[in-house]
Amino acid sequence: MLTVSSLKAAYGMHRALGGIDITVGAGEIVVILGANGAGKSTLLRAIAGMCEGQTSGEVNLDGKSIFGMPAEDIVEAGIAFVPEGRGIFGDLSVTENLQLGAYCRHARTNSVANLEQVYDLFPKLKERGRQIARTMSGGEQQMVAIGRAMMADPKILMLDEPSLGLSPLLSKELFHNLSRISATGMGVLLVEQNAKLSLGISDRGYLIENGAITGENRADALLNDPAVQAAYLGGA
Ligand code: ATP
Repeated sequence: MLTVSSLKAAYGMHRALGGIDITVGAGEIVVILGANGAGKSTLLRAIAGMCEGQTSGEVNLDGKSIFGMPAEDIVEAGIAFVPEGRGIFGDLSVTENLQLGAYCRHARTNSVANLEQVYDLFPKLKERGRQIARTMSGGEQQMVAIGRAMMADPKILMLDEPSLGLSPLLSKELFHNLSRISATGMGVLLVEQNAKLSLGISDRGYLIENGAITGENRADALLNDPAVQAAYLGGA
């Protein structure tokens, strides 16, 4: 279980997060919804130990503090992060990208089983193992990025705008795959513009405005909340 308490972040004089409290349980999918600039990416980056600003607060994974650790130790502790824009190694093959995901100590011992799990989830990555990653389509590159994060054998998988640039069909497929990932017991924390699809697969959601959590509820309740519909679902 991931527990974030009083997490603050600032870029110089600009306060991006004003004290955030959230939790993500094992096997749970949690979505963060908010307008542009609300602080969503900063929140994920601060949890991952990758925020460029000044941070304070508490981040615990299964009761152990991970706040302030170097990013690679946070991966080792069990949190994998797929940043916006994916960050795959374009000049390496699909398989090489996946193997690089297993660099952390605890994942190395299970890397064969983890690779099988990734191939089971994304059969296309097995078919295209030797293809150079940058020649894959946008949706396929997103699969590579998620597959690589899963190779770190995380307890919590964090994704920043995973459906960005994907067609509606590929986005649907992606969210279906996230459901399958969470069914293995992995917790998923997701930032998404596509509120409708992401709430459709999530257990819970948080609303973030100006660096503060302004709402929290079960995903089905958020989908039916008129204020959420007006703000994030195009009045649907
Ligand atoms: P979006 O949906 O547009 O990606 P967001 O909710 O993810 O937005 P953040 O990227 O977390 O928002 O940004 C929160 C605030 O912090 C914004 O005002 C942004 O300009 C600022 N910010 C983010 N990163 C930096 C940085 N490296 N240096 C300075 N300011 C930053």
